Amino acid sequence: MIEQNVQALLNEISNGNGYGEKITLVAATKTRTADEINRAISAGISDIGENKVQEFRDKFDAVQGGNRHFIGHLQTNKVKYLIGKTYLYHSVDRDELAREIAKRSIQAETVSDILIQINIGCEESKGGYPLENGFEVYQRLKNTEGLRVKGFMAMLPLSQDQTYLAELSRQMRALYDKAKAEDHMICYLSMGMSSDWQLCLKGGANMIRLGTAIFGQRDYKQI
Ligand SMILES: *Cc1c(COP(=O)(O)O)cnc(C)c1O
Repeated sequence: MIEQNVQALLNEISNGNGYGEKITLVAATKTRTADEINRAISAGISDIGENKVQEFRDKFDAVQGGNRHFIGHLQTNKVKYLIGKTYLYHSVDRDELAREIAKRSIQAETVSDILIQINIGCEESKGGYPLENGFEVYQRLKNTEGLRVKGFMAMLPLSQDQTYLAELSRQMRALYDKAKAEDHMICYLSMGMSSDWQLCLKGGANMIRLGTAIFGQRDYKQI
């Protein structure tokens, strides 16, 4: 099943996003075993994203290949475990976290690629900067030693209102385009999960993070 899902999804996104951009499919691997993740990689998945530092570390060696993304809420005191191992940090949602990633990266003589997380639905349960601060945050962080800002990340709220969600995705794309217009480093708009990825691609996302659509329903009891 994992293999068929991966092949079908890669096939569906193979034509790009309508903005002439290639789409990167990141497999969201929380609660999945290294074995399941390796099956997805064998089937063609190039990028995987973990939510929890513990899971990232536990599976790190057992998973074979793949760019390792970090996509979940990140506590500042756990950044040290990820430095030098993380392909892209999607969830930079506060200055304190950006500073810690920068500091640890400099210490490790590396540069970390990050996305600025935007709380596009203004939801209390979610992290991220308000949309209206997004560009200013980008300008502030882009010259930080130890960091390379590569774009933006957002999670759309749960809603049945497709018009509203499409509008939010377009607002994210507008922010992305504004930064990209002056900065060739900006190349990722990470937006789209199993329930809304088609809508997000229409809105201009070029990176989607899918768990359920690849692996099936999650069973949180397994971990
Ligand atoms: C779990 C998760 C996803 C994927 O969710 P699905 O609905 O299973 O596709 C994407 N992004 C983040 C940040 C996640 O935590």
